[in-house]
Amino acid sequence: MEYELRVIVEKVSVTSQEVIQRDTLKVYDIAPPASILELGLRHEEQISLLEKVQNSLLAAQSKLIDTGYDRCPRCGQKLNKRGFTKSKFHAVFTDHKVGIQKHKCTNPECNWQSTPSTAYVFGTSIHPDLAKLQCEQGAMYSFRKAETNLNKMTVHRRPVNNHTNIKLLTNEVGAVIAQENLEPAAVVEDGLSTPELILQADGGHIPTKDKDKRSFEALYAVAYRPENIIPLDNHHRQIENKSCAVSAKDDGLSTMKIYTLNAARKQGMTEETQVTALADGAQNCWTVILSLAPHCNSLLCILDWFHIAMRFQNVRGAEDDAFKETLEGVKWKLWHGKSDEALKKLKLLMTNITDSKKRLKLKKLYNYLENNQAYLVNYEERDQQGLSYTSQVAESHIDTIINDRYKRTKKMQWTHDGAHNVLQIRGLVECNEWADRWQAPVLRALVGAA
Ligand SMILES: [Zn+2]
Repeated sequence: MEYELRVIVEKVSVTSQEVIQRDTLKVYDIAPPASILELGLRHEEQISLLEKVQNSLLAAQSKLIDTGYDRCPRCGQKLNKRGFTKSKFHAVFTDHKVGIQKHKCTNPECNWQSTPSTAYVFGTSIHPDLAKLQCEQGAMYSFRKAETNLNKMTVHRRPVNNHTNIKLLTNEVGAVIAQENLEPAAVVEDGLSTPELILQADGGHIPTKDKDKRSFEALYAVAYRPENIIPLDNHHRQIENKSCAVSAKDDGLSTMKIYTLNAARKQGMTEETQVTALADGAQNCWTVILSLAPHCNSLLCILDWFHIAMRFQNVRGAEDDAFKETLEGVKWKLWHGKSDEALKKLKLLMTNITDSKKRLKLKKLYNYLENNQAYLVNYEERDQQGLSYTSQVAESHIDTIINDRYKRTKKMQWTHDGAHNVLQIRGLVECNEWADRWQAPVLRALVGAA
């Protein structure tokens, strides 16, 4: 081995360029890598090197931390410097102790001493970049899984990434965003308004802490302009730019209505806009959608073809061919906008079926279509004209936003507020707003600053 590699930190005078201090952080052998494992640094070593570099910077920086003490807060006398006290600091990947200046009152009668800490000086000992990661993990996975994931990233287990901490922080940050989302969306500027807007609403179920129930519902709505539906291939589409509203509040939909209006306005909805709304037929979804009517030019509500097709799929099952054929006929009528005929045909089929189980299934389908008859359109015509009539896109929103995080198989049970707060972060991530918006809510939750 001919050479070694030293990682050195130098403290240099900016004016004279004189090296004041030089520390060797690490010496690496330069040897031929026997395998890919020895190429560069291993995971643990990278974290360790980062820790050393951080420690050097923190040692230099901490001497400059202004604790804000000028005079004794108790008696007003002068203060003397009295060494440094070590205080916790949690960076993204590593934990540190930062030395912070202590002070003592010069008045012998008083004897006041400061006990400074990172939390005292900065309001928190956690770097916001770590808090951001914790929120992202906590919103995407169970809090215990989030803890595991973060510890894997940093190789070592860190108490700061404890699942209880992650839960508290995620909840705090979500609560700040929930509040922000209530603020009215900015007025749409000239030229940014959209002539047409599509709105989709759907609901998902969240396991509840409430002993009397198994779950409660959260609603999700997404607003986008028709031109932002981008085809991926013949069968899949993606929405390029969207705004969303999501609420698990038990408040008679009032939060959901405000969020939905704001989401629509963010996408450029004005009183000139023609809105096409798609929903699966649940009454609360229609209620939220219909609340937009006073704020737009027109509102066309359509029972989502995707959900209609799913309902038919559920009934079809392993039935005989004649039954299937008639059912297909009903669907065909619906597709062509002949809902009266479709319902008549379905009723006839229902009365001719003797099997009570099958009959019940058909009855459910019939009720579903009848309840939503006002929202049945000529799907065929819309399809021909390239207009929206189905929500099916590459990703199912409701699964991404709600179902993935709140699966019933998990032990976790939620309160309305707890679920609501986490959903706000998921909503921002889903609509690509998190990157621009995380900092203020994270700082607010950590430091309490406005
Ligand atoms: Zn004093």
